[in-house]
Formats: sequence, structure tokens, C-alpha cells
Amino acid sequence: MKPLEQLVRKNIWSLAPYSSARDEYSGKEAHVFLDANENPYNAPYNRYPDPLQRELKAMLEKVKGVPSDMIFLGNGSDEAIDLAYRVFCEPGRDNVVAIEPTYGMYKVCADINDVEYRRVLLDEHFGFEADRLLAACDEHTKLIWICSPNNPTGNSLSREEMLKVVERFQGIVIVDEAYIDFASQMSMRQELAKHENLIILQTMSKAWGSAAIRLGMAFASQEIVAIYNKVKYPYNVNLLTQQQAIEMLKDPFEVDKMVKVLLGERTLLMQAFKELPSCEEVYPTDANFFLARMTDAQKIYNYLVDLGIIVRNRTKVQLCKNCLRITIGTRTENQELLAALRQYE
Ligand SMILES: *Cc1c(COP(=O)(O)O)cnc(C)c1O
Repeated sequence: MKPLEQLVRKNIWSLAPYSSARDEYSGKEAHVFLDANENPYNAPYNRYPDPLQRELKAMLEKVKGVPSDMIFLGNGSDEAIDLAYRVFCEPGRDNVVAIEPTYGMYKVCADINDVEYRRVLLDEHFGFEADRLLAACDEHTKLIWICSPNNPTGNSLSREEMLKVVERFQGIVIVDEAYIDFASQMSMRQELAKHENLIILQTMSKAWGSAAIRLGMAFASQEIVAIYNKVKYPYNVNLLTQQQAIEMLKDPFEVDKMVKVLLGERTLLMQAFKELPSCEEVYPTDANFFLARMTDAQKIYNYLVDLGIIVRNRTKVQLCKNCLRITIGTRTENQELLAALRQYE
């Protein structure tokens, strides 16, 4: 890895962050707060939330086994994705490399930040080779995006190949683990200690059943987390979100229970799809969704919409011609989908 100073944009490296009232005061017990121009009434919503979400991070430290100062929290993973560009990529000059197909936000954020986005197509089994990703890089490549389990394909990528990328690439490698709680593969979190150029993204939006609160996590070196913290909006994670996340984290076994149920439902639904005349292939998955190649994805998608059932049509995505992406729902929802597809033509 190149020295961090060479990877971070110059203006960000030398940035003096905004110092909020709550940043300056910390430590000793206090009971009179006249420092932040808040209204003294309407507690607890009158007070600015903790800009560094310390209580929440202390709980995440236990659940995830990552030290607090290696955790960045954002308004969804989307904030951590955008920050990667704003911290590392000089607009109009630097570029990033990503697997294709994958999550659409990496490309949208590249466009917003005026950063060239280079795609490296997966193979027909949706796998990838480290060497092909590395071959797409040049001296202006700052980031490599990997998503595992990958969206929309559903499969986990080879850990060995991912580690090869992390070890050989001179820049930053971001592994998006939004679906890791559903996966049979282990998280890459344990690799953080060995690899200073690794950033791992996770979220409360999927297995944790909390998409509405918008809480995304980035696990990385203390140095990278410190830079993210100085670039983010001071109060990027609001009080309601912090409180609700803390509630969820009090009982992490609830999540395991939901995941178990969903994995059971996934097996049933995938089996049933294989029997459908309108389904040509069901692809292996490690997530709470699967990709199914249909006889005519657009027609079937429209047919389902007319019945009030929405799936994701991925037919226009490279390697996903005629594919629908099906999220696992409740038993009732899954059965309604199947009943509709059995009636199709
Ligand atoms: C759903 C998803 C996310 C989650 O984004 P949030 O902003 O945290 O809701 C991140 N990455 C991938 C690949 C996803 O599919």
C-alpha cells in the first residue's frame, strides 16, 4: 500500500474539521449546557446527538469484535460509499475499478464526484479473478470496489481472490458486506488488523431489519476512520437512529432468528422456482435474495406488477439477461408470488 498521505486528496489531508460545541466539551460530568444554542425544553430531542456515536460504537465493538476507533458510522452505507470518493479521489483525474455487475451506488457516486468508473466483468458463474481487477488499474486508481455476497448476483466471491487484491493493490480496497449476516462465508473483519488498505462496509438495512433508520458502518484502520470523521457532517447520525440501533444491538440473537427463518424460506422458494415452467435457471446465493433467469423477465415483471407484486427486474444488467432478483419475504408473501407465477400463461 502507498502511504496514506499519497492516497488521500491533498485538500482533505490538510483539512481543519469543523469543531462543534459537543466536540470541544468532553470528559468531565456537566449538568448545565449553554454551549450549543439549543432550546432547554423538549428533552431529549432538544440536544444535538453525539457526533461520534460513542455509546452505539461501544455496543458494536462487542457485537462485531472491531475496536470503536476502527468504526465509522454513517447515514446508511451510502454515506460511507460517497465519502470514499470525497476522501480519496481527485475529480477529473483519479479512477476506481469495480466488479460488474454489482451494486449501482458505486457508479452513481463516481459520476456525482466526477471520477472515472472502470468495470471488470465477472465470469459466467459470477466469479472473479484478482489479476483481472488489478490489470484494470493504473497509477490513478485509488479504490477497488468488491461486493460479497454480491448484489444482484447473490453469490459470495472467493476469499482467496479478495485477499490477493488487498495484498497486491497499492490503493484502497472496499469490500461491501451488506449481506454478510446471511452468508455461509465469514466476514473479512478479521483481516483489518493485517491490512491497512482494507475498508469493510456493513449495514443495519438488511439482516438487522432496520432500513428505515439509515445506519451504515465502515470498518477500517484508525487513520482512515479519523479522516472519514473529519469529512462527514458533524451530526450525520441522528438521535432516533442511534437510540433504535442501540435497542436492536441489545438482542443480537433476534437477528440470528430472523436470518434462520429467511434462509429456510429461501430454500423453499428456490426449490419451487426450479419447478416453474417460466423459470430457466436459479443461481446459487449467499444472501436474502436470489437471481432467477426467466423465459421473459420483462413480461413476467409486468404481469406481477399488475397483481401488486414487485420484484426487481435486472434484465438490462450485463450477464443478467432475463433475470429477476427475488427478495425473500414472509412465508405468505413468498407463496403469493409462487401462486401468481404458477398461473402465468
Ligand atoms: C442494500 C445494500 C446496501 C445498503 O445500503 P444502506 O445505505 O446501508 O441502506 C449496501 N450495499 C449493498 C451492496 C446493498 O445491496
